[in-house]
Amino acid sequence: MTRKMKSDKKPLGVDVMIVDDEKGIRDASGRILSRMGFAVVTMPNGDEALKKLPETDVSMVFLDLKMPGMDGMEVLKRIKDTRPEILVIVITGYATVETAIEAMKKGAYDFITKPFEPDQLRIVANRALEKILLTEETRKLEREKERTLSDLDAEKSRMLTIVNSLPNGVVVTDTGGRVVLMNPAARGHLELDPSAGAGKEIGAYIDDEGLGALVADISRGAYVDFEDIPDYEIVISEKKYLLARGKPVLGEKRECMGAVITLIDITPIRMLDNLKTEFIEKVSHELRSPLSTIHEQLVSVLKERTDDPSAQDHYLLSRAREKTKGLISLIGDLLDISRIEDGILCHERQTVAVDTLLADIVDFLSAKSRAKDQTLTLSVPDEPLPPLNADPMGLESIFGNLITNAIHYTPEGGRVEVFIDMAGINMRVRVSDNGFGMDGRHLDRIFDKFYRVKDDNTRHITGTGLGLSIVKGLVDSLGGIIEVESAPSSGSTFTVLLPVQPDVPDPVPA
Ligand code: ADP
Repeated sequence: MTRKMKSDKKPLGVDVMIVDDEKGIRDASGRILSRMGFAVVTMPNGDEALKKLPETDVSMVFLDLKMPGMDGMEVLKRIKDTRPEILVIVITGYATVETAIEAMKKGAYDFITKPFEPDQLRIVANRALEKILLTEETRKLEREKERTLSDLDAEKSRMLTIVNSLPNGVVVTDTGGRVVLMNPAARGHLELDPSAGAGKEIGAYIDDEGLGALVADISRGAYVDFEDIPDYEIVISEKKYLLARGKPVLGEKRECMGAVITLIDITPIRMLDNLKTEFIEKVSHELRSPLSTIHEQLVSVLKERTDDPSAQDHYLLSRAREKTKGLISLIGDLLDISRIEDGILCHERQTVAVDTLLADIVDFLSAKSRAKDQTLTLSVPDEPLPPLNADPMGLESIFGNLITNAIHYTPEGGRVEVFIDMAGINMRVRVSDNGFGMDGRHLDRIFDKFYRVKDDNTRHITGTGLGLSIVKGLVDSLGGIIEVESAPSSGSTFTVLLPVQPDVPDPVPA
């Protein structure tokens, strides 16, 4: 006979079974436990209790040890065999404390001796309840931990799948510069064996000292300002070009934990660039001689003419002469640019006294500045300057372009000043004018090919927009930097810094 007892207290969500042959104890205990909030089911003997157990969610059993039929000890054994998680509290008589101890040894959780007070029952039941709740809590935490771990695992594998699917190469290093992760695209770009594993320094995967040094520097946190980290171009097997771009990996406290390097295949861009340069070079060469011939003929025709220079055809011939001159200068600039890009314009390095070279250029261009009623001056320091190891033609082109620009973009009566001095390990040359100046938005772009500022002041000035691009290419090839400060109507200052012992290798002569 099964009896379910109703509780008026908030249910605890814990089912209890009372197994006792004494109806009085069964019912009284059942009532007490129900009032505590347990869901109670009572059973009169062991057989029925064992039969009922599988249909229930019981987690606590009060079990009388002395019952007719199946012995309580046997019932305990079977419960522990089939449902070890159930807490069994044995109910014993005074005379059977030893039996209770034996039952505890066999897996009973607690015991209560007959006859017991309601409070005693409540204490024992509460103790067991605490244990059940604690066990449940522990299980819940374990389940959560397992779930978190598997979530983390899933997240990790998801990230890895993404990194492995990227079209760009990704290489991650530790602070010692050793590779800890390399995706298949990186292996492909570096033409490595697909099974090549991580674990070595970058130099073991690609023989490029410059890249090795850069990766080591980024990995150990040598860069404070990430904007300073240069891009690095790698040539693989002469026909494949990669761009390596590195950033440090930062921890929670912004400490450097290594580096992540992306490898971008720029072969198609490079090929197109080479084709473009080749094309420009070919067309320029083809155009230069016929244009020069036309120009020379125009010059001699104009020289021989004795008629009125203001006559219409005289004017048209003069215009044609100026246009051909402009075209020849454009072709010269285009050829210079393609030679700089091929790395062959600046290869004849020798010891150059830059102050003397500047004095010669200033002397040469002073006729131009005088024609505009401008003052053109050169300031050199009292103490002697060290010589520079550079290609004098390249230097002439740099400063010639800058001073010519200053004269062009300064109105009549203006001032152009050239300063030379040392700034640390660099030789510093400043070309300053009080001319038209430029709005800030142009300053980033004036070194781009063909970029010209066209406003009311400059519209009538002819030019190719290639001069500063040539200057920048040459300064770069000498390992230097060029900066510009300018403001409309106030003038411009171009500053060139050239290392006295340049850190760039001599280009291989073409
Ligand atoms: P170009 O002089 O043939 O136009 P550049 O590349 O030498 O080409 O110069 C690009 C542009 O930068 C010029 O068109 C001009 O607008 C501007 N620029 C260069 N130098 C100066 C200067 N000293 N003052 C004002 N603007 C300048």
